[in-house]
Parts: sequence; C-alpha cells; structure tokens
Amino acid sequence: MAEANNTPYPFEAPVSQGLFDRAAVVTPGGVNSPVRAFRAVGGTPRFMVSGTGPYLTDADGREYVDLVCSWGPMILGHSHPEVIAAVQDAVARGTSFGTPGEGEVALAEEIVDRIAPVEQVRLVSSGTEATMSAIRLARGFTGRAKVVKFAGCYHGHVDALLAAAGSGVATLGLPDTPGVTGAQAGDTIVLPYNDLDAVRAAFAAHPGEIACVITEASPGNMGIVPPRDGFNAGLKAACQEDGALYISDEVMTGFRTSRTGWFGVDGVVPDLMTFGKVMGGGFPAAAFGGRADVMAHLAPVGPVYQAGTLSGNPVATAAGLAQLRLLDDAAYAKVDAVSEQLRALVTEAFTKEGVAHRLQNASNMFSVFFTKTSDEPVLDYEDAKAQDSFRYTAFFHSMLEQGVYLPPSAFESWFVSTAHDERAVERIATALPAAARAAAEATA
Ligand code: PLP
Repeated sequence: MAEANNTPYPFEAPVSQGLFDRAAVVTPGGVNSPVRAFRAVGGTPRFMVSGTGPYLTDADGREYVDLVCSWGPMILGHSHPEVIAAVQDAVARGTSFGTPGEGEVALAEEIVDRIAPVEQVRLVSSGTEATMSAIRLARGFTGRAKVVKFAGCYHGHVDALLAAAGSGVATLGLPDTPGVTGAQAGDTIVLPYNDLDAVRAAFAAHPGEIACVITEASPGNMGIVPPRDGFNAGLKAACQEDGALYISDEVMTGFRTSRTGWFGVDGVVPDLMTFGKVMGGGFPAAAFGGRADVMAHLAPVGPVYQAGTLSGNPVATAAGLAQLRLLDDAAYAKVDAVSEQLRALVTEAFTKEGVAHRLQNASNMFSVFFTKTSDEPVLDYEDAKAQDSFRYTAFFHSMLEQGVYLPPSAFESWFVSTAHDERAVERIATALPAAARAAAEATA
C-alpha cells in the first residue's frame, strides 16, 4: 500500500496514459462516452485490453476486479464461453444482412416470454434509441406532445430527455446541454423523483396534454435511488386517469434486478418498456415493447416511423439470446448473493472508519452515497447531489490502486456478475479497509 499523499491518484499507468494522449488528438476528450474520461475522479482512464470472468486487464498489464461490468451488460462476467461460442457461430455465418433473420425472432420471443406486459417488441441498437422511439410512439399514439421525466433519471442522450438527467450529465455537473433547442426540450416537464404530489400537480396543470411519463424502473443513474413503496403504482394510476402512457425504462434494471427485471420486483404493469444492456450480451442490442395495440402504431403496420440499418443484427442477437438463456434462477441467486456479501463488506469498512454514508440497493444493483449522516435515505436527485463526492474520489483511487475497478463517478451503480467468485470478493474485502480510511481522511 502506498504512503498516503496529497494526490488523489497516486499511481501511474504509462501505457494507458500514452493511449489517452493519442486518443485526445482524434476524439473529443479522448473517449467515446464522457464518464470514461475519469473527469469526476481525475487521473488516467485505464484502457482495457481483455476481460475474463470478473477481471479486466489494462494496457499496462494490471488486473482489476471489475465492479462496472460494462455499466451493467456483463452479468455473466467477461468472455463467458457459451456467449463467445454463440457469437463465433453467428459471425461465421456473416455479420449483417439487412433482412429479417431467425435470431431476432428468437430474442423477441425470449423477451415476450419473460416480461408479461410486453406483447410485442421492436429491436434497436442502443438504450438511447429505445427510449427515443418509445417516446415518439407514445406521442404518435396519444396525439399529445408533453413528456414527464424525473430529475436524476437518465434515459440516454435523447434531446427531449436531456433535461436534469443523471449519469454523465450528473457527473459533469451540466444542468442541461447546449445543442438541445428550446423546442426540443420545451415539451419536457421535469419533476422531482419520488414525489407523487408533483406528478398529480403536473397532470392537473396540463390535462389531456401529457403523452407519457417516463421513469427509470428503479433509478441507477444518480446512484441507486429506488422508488418509494407505491411510487410506480401511483405513476401508473395518474397516467391511466388522464389517458397518458406509462413508460418504464428498464435499460439498466431489465434482466438484471430479477429474471423479469424490476417488473418482477414491483409488478406494476407499464404500457411501454425499454431494454438494453443485459439483453445485448455485450453487443449493441436494445429494445422497446409493450401493449400490442400501442405497438401496432409503428411502421410498417401504423404511421409512426422507426427503423435501423443494424437493428436485430445477427451477431448482437446471438450474444443477447445466449446470455438470456443462461440467466436462470440459479444465476440470479448467485448475483444477488455476491451483491449482498459486498454490501455487507462495504458497510462494515465505512462503519469501522466512522464514515457517514448511505448504501442503497435495488436488488443486486447498489451504490454508496457519502451523505452528511447515515440515517437519512437518498430519495431524489437533490439528496444525491448533496453528498460529499470528494470522498468518493479518494475511495475510488485507493480501490483502483489495489486492483478493484469501480465506476469513475459517485453517481453510478456498481454491478456484479455470476463470475464474481470467492477470490474476487476476497480481493475487494482486502482493499476496502484502506480505501474506507482514504475516504475518511479526504478533504474537499
Ligand atoms: N436508459 C437507462 C436507464 C440507462 O441507464 C441508459 C444508459 O446507461 C440508457 C437508457 C441509454 O442506453 P445507451 O447508453 O445504450 O444508449
């Protein structure tokens, strides 16, 4: 363990740094998605060269236990042999045809079989596309313009939804983003999360004008902030009463928080749902689906246009299908157990060091908030932003130095996989005490 010093990121990664320098010349900020740049925590982003099971290896040859899991998709760990075999088999037959194929039918059937409210599904290539398309469909179906979203919920970089979004927008402290016009965001109503009174007030102020309410099924993009008991059911009821659609964004929670995602946890039936991450098995595959009468408004059956050159790509669908078929009850029991074990270890480490914190979970997804006291739950984006993020910076770098790769931001979920075995947990357990101490000693 290095001596404590004043730099928040004390160890070097020369090969990654060299790659980052090269990348910065040809790519804005050197990355293809902002959070990867480590701006929230400082230091050199690690350029990864391989992943096996619960481990990632960077370009400098260091191995890390991965608690990011590609931001959720890798629920079976990296390079799962059966997923890799399915991909190799698909690749050997060609990579894209631009025609219908059996793999996309099988993946759609798997989703429809698992998730009762989804009668029909359309495959796309990213979670952003899924939410963008779901909103267009809701507007086309209802003939209304307004969309309700919640502060701190991130639904991808859809123009209309980049108001008070979480994830990278939270990390970078951008209240909004240039490039989104008033017209694009003008029909978006942003409300505080977990506040049903605010939702009822919005419907009262705009009767018959709201096309849909979109919410993360259980938010993970401002850190983990689960819905209060009855919140999602209250959203559904408010929508039903006014004739708006209730869209549950399960891009992060889908096929992760249970076999049937967050729907399997709270049972509230949405009109439309969105999926991504786990269902792509590490490839760009995502989906939106729901009520057949709503989905029937999509082209070519109905008038709402939506399309994609690589939608239902045979390699991506093969990976997603292989991963979903491996995700049986035993797999979820394993992921849940590892998560529970880690949550206990993290709580113990912070408690020992007297660090005020709040560890929150949504089934096996979890994150830590460095709150002022340990007693108050984090219920919305304002609560989440009030945390002492500088403690996370110190904690993050200590863990990184000790071979544990955490999300490079305090506003993100931690993810585990079926591959997180005893050895991986042991490495995390060994690293935690010093990292908790670093968090305790950190100053703003
Ligand atoms: N919706 C949620 C809840 C997400 O967490 C994300 C990404 O993190 C998205 C949508 C966007 O997905 P993608 O990054 O695949 O566009």
